[in-house]
Amino acid sequence: MYGLKAVVIGAGMAGLATAIALRQAGYEVDVYEKTSKIRPAGAGISLWSNGIKVLNRLGLGEAVAAIGGQMNRMEYRTHKDDLLNDIDLIPLMEKVGQRPYPVSRTDLQDIMVNAFGENNIHMGMRCVGVKQDEQSATAIFEDGSTATGDIVIGADGIHSEVRSYIAGPTGTRYADYVNWNGLVDIDEDLPAHDSWVIYVGEGKRASMMPVGGDRFYFFFGCPKPQGTSTEPEEIPAELAGIFAGWAKPVQHLIQKLDPQQVNRLEISDLDPLPQLVKGRVALVGDSAHASTPTLGQGGCQAMEDAEVLCRYLVTTNISVEDALKRYEAERKERVADLVLKARKRTDKIYNKVPKETQEWYEQLKYESPQDVTDAIAKVILGGPFR
Ligand SMILES: Cc1cc2nc3c(=O)[nH]c(=O)nc-3n(C[C@H](O)[C@H](O)[C@H](O)COP(=O)(O)OP(=O)(O)OC[C@H]3O[C@@H](n4cnc5c(N)ncnc54)[C@H](O)[C@@H]3O)c2cc1C
Repeated sequence: MYGLKAVVIGAGMAGLATAIALRQAGYEVDVYEKTSKIRPAGAGISLWSNGIKVLNRLGLGEAVAAIGGQMNRMEYRTHKDDLLNDIDLIPLMEKVGQRPYPVSRTDLQDIMVNAFGENNIHMGMRCVGVKQDEQSATAIFEDGSTATGDIVIGADGIHSEVRSYIAGPTGTRYADYVNWNGLVDIDEDLPAHDSWVIYVGEGKRASMMPVGGDRFYFFFGCPKPQGTSTEPEEIPAELAGIFAGWAKPVQHLIQKLDPQQVNRLEISDLDPLPQLVKGRVALVGDSAHASTPTLGQGGCQAMEDAEVLCRYLVTTNISVEDALKRYEAERKERVADLVLKARKRTDKIYNKVPKETQEWYEQLKYESPQDVTDAIAKVILGGPFR
């Protein structure tokens, strides 16, 4: 179909990727964002090759490569710093045809906002409802104003308003752990600058992965009941307590990090939805399939959503509703599968059943690097670009 008008709710990576793709297809696109300044939830993100391939297709490949870390290896180590597994990622790249890039989220956001154009992002516009008729779909905003198009796309994150229009009330599910993350400059007391190192033990993990600008994106994870909080200045003491006795680079990281820049997040996900679309209204990104971040696929799936949604709108011509149904049919199973896989992995990492976590530690010791990269390749090659 040609000449469509799209209204996109939310200017996170899902909304921006979708908006850029639809604009490149020749559609008129406006993005509406509830905040007055977009602030990504988290410091860094690993964009695996399936996400990067979509960015390549959008013409952003070189820009993303310029902000990406050179992640050539992946190392699992015990919390006492014994090597469990050392995995060369080059064979993975050769298999899937594209390097993954861990990036700083603000760098990524700058690229995406610039690519779409700030002027078409309407800030301070909280969507509070959606309606549609046979010819159009309309988003309704808190201030009483409306935006009408041929299609409304909900890219409004895990607590999506558009989702309630499509799927009714859907609560999120607390994953029983807290994640702390941020960025630090690389130095000689931290791991090698081309390695993603993951320390595991005691049902917790601490990790560093290289992003552009000679920095590590770091994250810590530990099981915790819901509702805990810590003032930023107390975060180093909190982490020092939780990770007492862990490897030297972990201790150095805790001393080095800037607590004012650390994000402390209670992690939740979403049960797979029975539907991702209703008539002329569709969900993309976390609004459709928020996941625990243990496969590094949430944002990559948002990119895939953008690509597949755009592809059906452009290449079919029965109706918008028909194109959205095709989008749903292609995406529903894939995103549900990855949400549930990530959930399972989360439980294993964070000691839900201690025996299974211990077995996983043993498995890490004996698993062949090729098995690890084959499993990652399978996820990557399940996307729209093989
Ligand atoms: C700790 C952590 C680590 C992660 N690591 C990775 C990783 O390594 N790799 C990976 O691929 N994924 C990762 N993810 C997942 C990834 O961050 C998300 O999948 C991705 O950010 C989702 O983007 P989104 O645009 O759908 O949602 P969001 O980024 O949440 O954006 C939604 C936007 O909509 C706006 N909005 C919300 N409600 C409204 C409304 N009513 N009206 C208007 N605007 C609204 C919000 O303000 C926001 O700007 C991680 C997630 C977490 C929490």
